[in-house]
Amino acid sequence: MKIELTLIPVTPFTLTPSDICSLFKKGENNINMPFYVSSIKGMLRAASIFGFRSRFGDGYSCEDTFNKTCPELTEKERNVLKTFPCPICKTYGMLGLKGCSLFITNLNEVVEGKELINYRFLFRGPYYISVSQKPLDIVIICDDKFKCSPLVILLGLHYIDKGIIRLGKFKSRGFGIFKVKMKNGELQKLLNNIDILENELKKCLGV
Ligand SMILES: [Zn+2]
Repeated sequence: MKIELTLIPVTPFTLTPSDICSLFKKGENNINMPFYVSSIKGMLRAASIFGFRSRFGDGYSCEDTFNKTCPELTEKERNVLKTFPCPICKTYGMLGLKGCSLFITNLNEVVEGKELINYRFLFRGPYYISVSQKPLDIVIICDDKFKCSPLVILLGLHYIDKGIIRLGKFKSRGFGIFKVKMKNGELQKLLNNIDILENELKKCLGV
């Protein structure tokens, strides 16, 4: 399944140096390739974990429950999880598990749109911070092995759209807040209605 969406910045956001390196490395060979950006996938993963914690409670994520990843769990720890591997690892991948792939299709534009802003922390600064304020076009491709992946991703996107989960540096200062716009109208409706989304995900997971 292919999920397409745009993250529309409400506040400026930072990208990690490795995100930008991946652009230049791949850019030399094939300028039109979509780009893999690890910090965005990390934000989504964190957002889905937050969603499970908030709406489902204990036992849905290895990291949240044990501060370890699924392949590192002992037999006893595995049994504590509601499903093993957990829906987070199945969706976002982990050693030996592929998970969904995430690409930014307009990273060139986003990086070209970087600008220095002058920012003053309380009692310190001003500092120049390199940020972008361009919308991020994202394509996520999930295979059909784990059919709940799109719902796990939507659960995370809900908390990104609410501004609770943010991207990059200076999150606590309000940087990296996005509104989420799904290309598919049905997915947008699900994203906006957390009660229905929770029920659909429970049905899908069989819990
Ligand atoms: Zn896991």
